[in-house]
Amino acid sequence: MPKVAFIGLGNMGGPMATNLVKAGHTVTVFDLSEAALKQLQSAGAAVAGSAAEAAAGADYVISMLPAGKHVAATYLGDAGLLAQLDASTTVLDCSTIDAATARQVGETAAELGIGFMDSPVSGGVAAAAAGTLAFMCGGSAATFDKARLILKDMGKNIFHAGPAGAGQVAKGCNNMLLAIHMIGTCEALEMGARNGLDPKVLSEIMLASSGRNWSLEVYNPYPGVMEKAPASNNYKPGFMVDLMVKDLGLALEIAQQSEFENPMGQLARELYSQHQQAGNGQMDFSSILRKLQGS
Ligand code: NAD
Repeated sequence: MPKVAFIGLGNMGGPMATNLVKAGHTVTVFDLSEAALKQLQSAGAAVAGSAAEAAAGADYVISMLPAGKHVAATYLGDAGLLAQLDASTTVLDCSTIDAATARQVGETAAELGIGFMDSPVSGGVAAAAAGTLAFMCGGSAATFDKARLILKDMGKNIFHAGPAGAGQVAKGCNNMLLAIHMIGTCEALEMGARNGLDPKVLSEIMLASSGRNWSLEVYNPYPGVMEKAPASNNYKPGFMVDLMVKDLGLALEIAQQSEFENPMGQLARELYSQHQQAGNGQMDFSSILRKLQGS
């Protein structure tokens, strides 16, 4: 079994690292939080005192960090991990970060002969715990072959999106579309409700018609339509508005860097930012219905 270093044991990284331990890998972990380290230790991982200590001699280094600046600080520069790793190491950054930083880390790794893939995930904490995440990978075909061997123990669908940075671009495109169709779904349901339609009946009609989409199918934003959806549980997340605003900001950066005007993505970002600033950052993202309702 390969030796794995796992850095960043938060809401997502904790359960992902636990699944690697359960799959029989030798896992050494590092996080800035003592509590997170203790939890993984009791799950069977070895604890290191620094990222470099965790990564020493590892076949795979996996990270799940908050943002691009944390990823850059972990991997780049004289004190960064890339300067210390053996060329046989495969580095998989699963964090959701800006594509430019992912490309920069990928290019630096390539110069040193180290295989790197940005491998952001789709699926939240529940999918991380269940080992059913989707991975969107950016890097070489050879690195992808190695990555698959380990990502399969944390996820179900593993896609090779293209070269370094392509995983983050795929994630940005997907989450921008998710925000847009969630807002559109809320708008259609509210318009129907204000004209006397039962949102449940309208949902059934649209599900069998050309308005069908993921939000209607598995995540209906109208309270009471779908028993298990966050909308029926006072919009308890789920996927928080704060994270959607972050992802829409990353999508906007991707659009700007490619000189592409993304009017729907920009409007979605504006609406979600306003909803966040109104104090709803910790609510599920389907609560955007309340903003449209004016409540
Ligand atoms: P989190 O804040 O719960 O966890 C981040 C962890 O990283 C924390 O434990 C923190 O102590 C640790 N950390 C920060 N800097 C560090 C460093 N320099 N060295 C070691 N550890 C460090 O965040 P999360 O919800 O687990 O999300 C992680 C990433 O996954 C983010 O990029 C997020 O956008 C993405 N993501 C989250 C979800 C979700 O539903 N939570 C879904 C998909 C993707």
